[in-house]
Amino acid sequence: MSRTFPLEKIRNIGIIAHIDAGKTTATEMILHHAGRTYKVGSVDEGTAVMDWMEQERERGITITSAATTCHWRKHRINIIDTPGHVDFTAEVERSLRVLDGGVVIFDGVAGVEAQSEAVWRQADKYGVARICFINKMDRTGADFHHTVTMINERLQNRALPIQLPMGSEKDFRGIIDLVENKVIAFPVDSNSISIEGTETLLAKHRQELIENLADLDEQIMLLYLEGQDVSATQIKAAIRRLTISNRMVPVLCGSALRDRGIQLLLDAIVDYLPSPVDVPPISVTDLESGEEILRLPSDDEPFAALAFKTVFDPFMGRLVYLRVYSGRVKAGAQVLNATIDKKERVGKLYVMHANHREEIEHTETGSIVASLGLKMTSTGDTLCETKRPVLLEAIRFAEPVLSMAVEPKSKVDQDKLDDSLTKLAMEDPTFKVYHDEETGQTLISGMGELHLEVLMERIFREYGIRVNAGKPQVAYKETITIPVESEGRFIRQSGGRGQYGHVWLRIEPGERGSGFEFRDQIRSGAIPKGFTPSVEAGAKSALQSGGLAGYPVIDVKVTLYDGSFHEVDSSDVAFKMAAFMAMRDGIDKAKPVILEPIMEVEITTPNQFLGDIIGDLNSRRAHIEGIESRAESSTIRCLVPLAETFGFAGDLRSLSQGRASHTMCFHRYEELPQDLSEQITARMGRTR
Ligand code: GDP
Repeated sequence: MSRTFPLEKIRNIGIIAHIDAGKTTATEMILHHAGRTYKVGSVDEGTAVMDWMEQERERGITITSAATTCHWRKHRINIIDTPGHVDFTAEVERSLRVLDGGVVIFDGVAGVEAQSEAVWRQADKYGVARICFINKMDRTGADFHHTVTMINERLQNRALPIQLPMGSEKDFRGIIDLVENKVIAFPVDSNSISIEGTETLLAKHRQELIENLADLDEQIMLLYLEGQDVSATQIKAAIRRLTISNRMVPVLCGSALRDRGIQLLLDAIVDYLPSPVDVPPISVTDLESGEEILRLPSDDEPFAALAFKTVFDPFMGRLVYLRVYSGRVKAGAQVLNATIDKKERVGKLYVMHANHREEIEHTETGSIVASLGLKMTSTGDTLCETKRPVLLEAIRFAEPVLSMAVEPKSKVDQDKLDDSLTKLAMEDPTFKVYHDEETGQTLISGMGELHLEVLMERIFREYGIRVNAGKPQVAYKETITIPVESEGRFIRQSGGRGQYGHVWLRIEPGERGSGFEFRDQIRSGAIPKGFTPSVEAGAKSALQSGGLAGYPVIDVKVTLYDGSFHEVDSSDVAFKMAAFMAMRDGIDKAKPVILEPIMEVEITTPNQFLGDIIGDLNSRRAHIEGIESRAESSTIRCLVPLAETFGFAGDLRSLSQGRASHTMCFHRYEELPQDLSEQITARMGRTR
């Protein structure tokens, strides 16, 4: 069967930006030019298409990662929406997984902000090729060169401008295209557009670009050394090679709000960002052989897709967004969900456009589609051909750092609330719900205050339930600080069949973020291998609550290295118990400590409030990492314990007359200072 769209003409991209940099506006403009019948909405009026959830419109932020398909120069561009707020890093991670390329938007006034750095690092992790768009060149204070310097200093030293703005701020009147060697002047009020002086500027910077490219690319170097002219086509080909291999990031500029430079941006997406065949083939685990194999992006390969987003659409129902990595699948076909090992039907398939959806008969390799009818599949699952079971690398999500108790304002809503929370947790893997059996409370947890607030608002808007929420509680953890060896014996030999399990475990601190690692080093046959999984399970179950204050224990490395067994009495249960006992004792001896989540906070403020804000931060146990000062405003980058951040947004507002802004995201777990640790231990007591 022939394809409906050539694979090499597909661009699966994300638009990545710090909140307020102009992602929504730019997306709107892109859809305006490339999305057939789309009418431009304005963010300020709250009608943007990508921000389809009502509350997002009110907040002016984009939270979900729906996908929108549009067309430019006979290419199909699938825009996978990435959230603009740092509290939703899980959303960003998951969308980066399925992207081949990204457009990173910067505010030409604010430059590179904290979250852009976080997202940039994530994009590096997944090898996502990028182009940068420096937006808001029309705004007072916009500075193209300063932003390029910041990108090179803070993110990547291979950001090369392929355009220059002609003038800036009110005088932003054109774009100098260094590749095509021409000036695009915008129609402005006065008829006489002065492009005087731009010719020398163009020649100088074009030469610089060619020299920089020669430095990175052999073909350009040869032409350059031979003193030959380098054509626009040759430059473009070199930029494409370098961008796809992540050795260069082309930088463009414009103003999304005024529709300046957007068509050039679309050209650059098509010209420089990779198609699914330009990225390395995906590696999958073949579940029959257990081996890692490569799957080529081809319709002839067996079908494999990743469910990267689940949305409960109020009109359509449960939509699962899929990225198809190989093969194809027909609507209604049966597939295997390899993650949960269950077969199900893909149901109806849709391509989602900006303002309509198109039902399709089958998906093709490289496409992004929404499926209606998958019941068991959740975010992160692999779908594949039933006869060729494979698993794509699962998406790793951070554990929630904050929790709070919730209850419906009216008792009759309890079942409805449980149902809606379960649905939301299915959509968002960093949002968890559990019931505390002892207190009978429902607890929800997530990645920050805003994350939970947004979810509570959705429960009200989408399900009509009013909720009372308790005070947010920090998700503390425990860990150990020294290695120990610990013995566990579970031996019962009174009457009937006995129980016999005996292990020696080496318990060591693991690297931060490593979770739980287990190794079996028994060589002598002291314990038959068949019992190893039980030892591991027993060891793991001991981590559910630590000995200091009952918080989960993380970052522990456990090695089973000795023990003994009994021909008749040994059983899985006995070894599980023995390992559990060895762990409990061992953790207590291994100098346990309490860990607290630390947030990375970036605050931008007019200079006159700087002193007061630093004073406030100091009272919150903040560690200030750096202050960058510009003429009128400064940016403070710091690390603040999550427990000290409550109420910060309000305090910042009153300290700065509402003029400072901030972003906050989870950074890492760190040891809690001794005095606070003692307070918590005293309050929680030994819970076991
Ligand atoms: P997002 O949070 O990244 O999606 O940013 P938005 O697209 O919502 O834009 C944030 C604000 O910046 C809105 O008020 C936009 O109207 C404004 N904005 C976006 N692009 C430009 C631009 O090119 N120039 C100016 N002056 N304002 C812009």
